[in-house]
Amino acid sequence: LDLREEDLEIGKAMGEGAGGTVVMATHRPTQTPMALKFIRADYSMRQQILKELQILHECNSPYIVSFYGAYPKDNGVQVCLEYMDLRSFDHIYRTNGPIPVPVVGRVTFSVLQGLKYLYEDLRVMHRDIKPSNILLNSLGFIKLCDFGISKEMVSSIANTFVGTASYMSPERMIGGSYTVKSDIWSFGLTLMELVLGRYPLKGETGSMSIFEMLSYINSETLPLLPEDQYPPALCDLVAKCLIKDPAKRPTIKDLLDHQYTRECAVAKVNIEQWAASLAIADY
Ligand code: ADP
Ligand code: MG
Repeated sequence: LDLREEDLEIGKAMGEGAGGTVVMATHRPTQTPMALKFIRADYSMRQQILKELQILHECNSPYIVSFYGAYPKDNGVQVCLEYMDLRSFDHIYRTNGPIPVPVVGRVTFSVLQGLKYLYEDLRVMHRDIKPSNILLNSLGFIKLCDFGISKEMVSSIANTFVGTASYMSPERMIGGSYTVKSDIWSFGLTLMELVLGRYPLKGETGSMSIFEMLSYINSETLPLLPEDQYPPALCDLVAKCLIKDPAKRPTIKDLLDHQYTRECAVAKVNIEQWAASLAIADY
């Protein structure tokens, strides 16, 4: 697909995150709907980001949002992505209530497959797992987006990021380097949020500074999913992801081997049917 800016018909705005804005668009020649993500970056970073995004052309997984192309624009880079018509899981639970457990099982399986693909095939970490970066479409596909493909992009976003720590692992809060174990922590919190239909720790998303969050995580026992209300295997998986010591936290391989993931891999869940029943949030 040869992407030219003049072929894109800009549609409605879909939201604003830490790193930039997202708008919907249609690629007129092919009538392909797209999500356009604008990332602010200075001139030297723009070149670097565009170079690093090239590897996304080889990214091909049903668990990762497709990349159509990117070009420099104004004071940043415009990234053209597959449009996921039912949007992200934060919107979905805010409009429809807690995500049903069988669907959470499918999310578990899909996100772990997506992470495995990122780690093994693209050799990148995700770095920003949270409900708003897990997307759904009406065909029933669950896909990851916004992973840290580009170091420049991550730092460019980090620079404009005015510190909330909602999904950050404790080792990152004290300034340690990002590792795959940090992704696992964020994944555990995310699953818990979908099941409960609310941010699972004290406060709301974004209401605590890194400092407040770190002292909270260090001083109190973190909430767990109650085993009498949810599948014990799911509760166990979430609890393991939220082990404070990264050395004791499971790896992606451990999680793929976990009993809950094995059950999810073979469970028959009709996501397409569930998706058709959803109310969609206003843009
Ligand atoms: P954040 O992820 O922090 O909410 P973003 O700028 O990444 O901020 O995204 C803003 C919103 O746009 C998200 O809440 C999500 O619902 C929506 N969005 C992002 N990418 C897509 C996409 N490819 N298809 C559909 N909706 C998207
Ligand atoms: Mg996002």
